[in-house]
Amino acid sequence: MRLDRFLNHKLRLGGKAVRQLLIEDRVKLNGEIVRSGTVEVGEFCRVSVDDRVLQDREALYYMINKPAGYVSVRNDPVYHSALELVDIPNNAELHTAGRLDLDTTGLFIVTNDGAWSRRLTDPDSKKPKVYRVETSRPVSEACEALFAEGMRLLPEDIVTQPAKLERLGEREVRLIIYEGRYRQIKRMFWRFENKVVALHRERMGDIELDDRLEPGQFRSLTEDEIASV
Ligand code: URA
Repeated sequence: MRLDRFLNHKLRLGGKAVRQLLIEDRVKLNGEIVRSGTVEVGEFCRVSVDDRVLQDREALYYMINKPAGYVSVRNDPVYHSALELVDIPNNAELHTAGRLDLDTTGLFIVTNDGAWSRRLTDPDSKKPKVYRVETSRPVSEACEALFAEGMRLLPEDIVTQPAKLERLGEREVRLIIYEGRYRQIKRMFWRFENKVVALHRERMGDIELDDRLEPGQFRSLTEDEIASV
């Protein structure tokens, strides 16, 4: 939102009074005096007028090594939420950047920065999501070929981005997909009547699961990890 609209909204003073505050050098954005009302105020900018702080919200970013048995949503009637694993006072502000199924393990990212999580998860941004997959039956050549070509998914009626498959064993692969549709990987394998028996997310974009995290543990993202999105 533009700074003049932001001030108007917060202080309910009217345009003329807001302009007056600006030209009297009474408004600070991230600690610097600003005179222009047209500059953009982001969700996490610090805005003050004289000594009154109007907005000062810290952006929060965490990764969790999600164990099986936790859901991605809050307030499930049966299961604990993976969000509860982040033991911080501001927990209620957090949302997930990309869901995982109850039985899926691995990299689970939570934040309070909506624009950032959209960039990471939006199918159009084509960020790679890397999974280790174990299946009930051997992975066929036909399966690998269709994944590489792109597969139509219903009911969305979209064709998946070409997925890269690296064979780790007869029934184990590393799979890179570029979107994150509902139960996408299980549905892709199920097309070949092959059941996913274990699914573990290793990476989203350039953010890799920290192998020092035990299942259920979390840590803050580093500045480089945040900036990579
Ligand atoms: N694809 C799935 O099928 N399940 C997940 O949890 C993540 C990707």
